[in-house]
Amino acid sequence: MLIVMRDHASPEQIQHIVDHLHLAGAETHLSQGEVKTVIGVVGERELVYSLEMEGFPGVSEVIRVLKPYKLAGRDFQAEDTVVRVGDAQIGGGTFGVIAGPCSVESREQMMSVAASVKAAGASMLRGGAYKPRSSPYAFQGMGLDGLKLLREAGDSAGLPVVTEVLDVRDAETVAEWADVLQVGARNMQNFMMLEELGTMRKPVLLKRGLSATIEEVLSSAEYVLKGGNRDVILCERGIRTFETYTRNTLDLAAVAAFKILTHLPVIVDPSHATGRRDLIAPMCRAAIPAGADGLIVEVHPDPEHARCDGPQSLDLDAFAELASTLGPRVALEGKHL
Ligand code: PEP
Ligand code: MN
Repeated sequence: MLIVMRDHASPEQIQHIVDHLHLAGAETHLSQGEVKTVIGVVGERELVYSLEMEGFPGVSEVIRVLKPYKLAGRDFQAEDTVVRVGDAQIGGGTFGVIAGPCSVESREQMMSVAASVKAAGASMLRGGAYKPRSSPYAFQGMGLDGLKLLREAGDSAGLPVVTEVLDVRDAETVAEWADVLQVGARNMQNFMMLEELGTMRKPVLLKRGLSATIEEVLSSAEYVLKGGNRDVILCERGIRTFETYTRNTLDLAAVAAFKILTHLPVIVDPSHATGRRDLIAPMCRAAIPAGADGLIVEVHPDPEHARCDGPQSLDLDAFAELASTLGPRVALEGKHL
C-alpha cells in the first residue's frame, strides 16, 4: 500500500502515520521528494489491507498496489534512483560502464585490464572470484585470493570493483573486499541471499534470471529494497529462448519496460547475452537508445587464453575502441558518461 501525502505535508503528520503503522505491525519505507512524500507500507497482505489510512491528517491518497513489488515501482518513487559508488555513478543521467574479465585469474591479468579499461573510460572494474559454472569440473574461481587481487587492481587504477556473491555464506567476505555485490542470473531467486544483501550497505547488481519474467526480476529487487538497501542496479543479460546462434537472447524490450516500471537503474550485459565477441559492440550501442543506464562488458588482455568466457570477451584494444564510440550516443539520450 502506498500512502501519498499532500504536497508539503508536515514532518509531524508523516511521523504520526509512521508511528501508527508500526504499532499496527506494518513496515514503512519513505520516499521523500521535494514536495511529495510517499509512505510505502509493507507487511502481510491481510494486515496492510485492513489499515484504513484515508482519513489521517495530511493524507492525499491511498493506493493499494496489486503488483508483487511496491518499493521498486515508479508509484513509490517517481525519480530515478542514482547509485553512487565512490566517484562512480549509475542512473539519473549518468551512464556507467563496468568492464573487466569474467574471472580473476592472476595479478598481471587484473593490473593490466584495470589500467587499460580505466584509460578507456570505464567507471568500474568487474571480475569474478566465485564463479557459477555449469560443470563442477570447470574453473570455480580464485575465491578470497581473487577478491584481494580485484581490490588491489581496482585501487591501483582508481576504479570501484564489482564481483559476484555466489553463496550467502560468502556475503560478508565479499562485502569486505568489493564495492558492488553482484547477484548472478542463477541466484536471482535465491531469496535468502537477497534478504541478506538487503541488510547490507553495499549496492547490489541484480542480474536477470535465465528464464525470469520482468515481474519476477522486480520482485527479486523488492526483497533487497524491503531490507532497507535502496541501491539496486538491474541487469539484462539475456534470456533462454529457442535461438542457439547466440548464447542467450538479449531482451532490449525489457530494458525499455524496466525504465517505465521502475526507478532503479538498468544496465545491459551484452557478453552473457550474446556469448559472441562480434556482437558485443553492436549490442552495447543498441542498449543506449533502449534506455540503458550503463553496460557491463567482459574484457580480457588475452581472450584466447581466458579461463572462463573467452569467446565473449573483448581484448583491451577492442574495448577501448568501443568505449570511444559511446559518448556521443549517450549524449543523444540526454545522458553523459
Ligand atoms: C558473470 O557476470 O560472469 C556471470 C556469471 O553472469 P550471469 O550470472 O549473468 O550468467
Ligand atoms: Mn562470464
